Amino acid sequence: MINRNFSNLVENYLFAEIESRSAAYRAANPDKTLLKMGIGDWTAPLCPAVTDALRKASSEMGTPDGFRGYGPYQGYGFLREAISGYYAARGTQVAPDDIFVSDGAKSDTGNITDLFSESATVMIADPVYPVYNDTNVMSGRKIIFADANEENGFLPMPDESTRADVIYLCTPNNPCGTAYTRDKLAQWVEFATRTGALLLCDFAYEAYVTDPDLPRSVYEIPGARDCAIEFCSLSKTAGFTGVRCGWTVIPKELTRDGVNLNAMWLRRQSTKFNGVSYIVQRGAAAVFTPAGQAQTGAQVAAFKANAKMIYDAVTSCGIHCEGGRNSPYVWLKCPDGMGSWDFFDLLLNEEQIICTPGAGFGKNGEGYARLSAFSPREVSTEAMRRFTARFGGHC
Ligand code: PLP
Repeated sequence: MINRNFSNLVENYLFAEIESRSAAYRAANPDKTLLKMGIGDWTAPLCPAVTDALRKASSEMGTPDGFRGYGPYQGYGFLREAISGYYAARGTQVAPDDIFVSDGAKSDTGNITDLFSESATVMIADPVYPVYNDTNVMSGRKIIFADANEENGFLPMPDESTRADVIYLCTPNNPCGTAYTRDKLAQWVEFATRTGALLLCDFAYEAYVTDPDLPRSVYEIPGARDCAIEFCSLSKTAGFTGVRCGWTVIPKELTRDGVNLNAMWLRRQSTKFNGVSYIVQRGAAAVFTPAGQAQTGAQVAAFKANAKMIYDAVTSCGIHCEGGRNSPYVWLKCPDGMGSWDFFDLLLNEEQIICTPGAGFGKNGEGYARLSAFSPREVSTEAMRRFTARFGGHC
């Protein structure tokens, strides 16, 4: 009766353990202020373009003519058109019919597993955003790991000796902050095309990419429409972590085993999902207006400036780190060969800085730590002042 695959999940104590060690420190040192540099949650208020649209849609719902009940399963046309236009502005062709509006990338990267048989083999990077692994463990699938490490710049590449049916790619990546160049992503598209694998590409952090060599969508790569699904989110682009809205792209021509995946996902969504509320979809559409793009763009730019400041500060201490330029995350090698949790304790107890131990994201994360740029500027600045004073750098 019970899905025994759940017993194969390794309990992830990462954030609970961070919270419990931080709470213990707070209780013992009530006069000290902790600087949170670990969280991956947006901290700025929603921008006016979004709040205006949310208010307007909410009022509309209170009128006889403006009230809406169940919406279209794939999302309202106005939002899918706006998202399609967002891609088109960058020269990428994604049609409104390819787009499925969702309540975020977490749900969709997890729920997409409904499309695959239990015998499908999946490939996942290590370290990685834990959802890809845990959702496949729940379904009892065989998982193989592609090592992300210093040798490959924390960006695993195809290995001819390894085959998988489904391959998860995240770029820019959580937790390492690294991103595939167009050329490297093209190698994955070529590999998937040749081997019949399906790429599941998580672009939740695409808004942080400013380097022109880095793709902001897998569909910038020729051939990707025949081998890739893409997940996107407004969480880290427009502060929708609490509002909840994202989208998934499944090109209409994409098939596997003779089955059309766009039609299959529509069938899945119309059976198990009743859509994102009209009000939220109106707020989401406002992100793609000129005002919304300017306002959310300024917010993302501010977090990017934080990331650069953190990256420069850590580097000035002679500590190796990745990310920080096209990503809100800085992934640093713990100094003096320290383990992730020892380094966490050192920063907490000596400098009152909370980081995220890399070991929580997979075995290759041991000996690393993630710093997030989502904290307000003054918190990040003070944290880096303390960090550089301890480790001999400057900021
Ligand atoms: N994908 C990655 C790589 C993430 O890091 C996160 C959140 O931290 C998500 C997806 C979740 O996005 P959403 O808030 O849209 O569910």
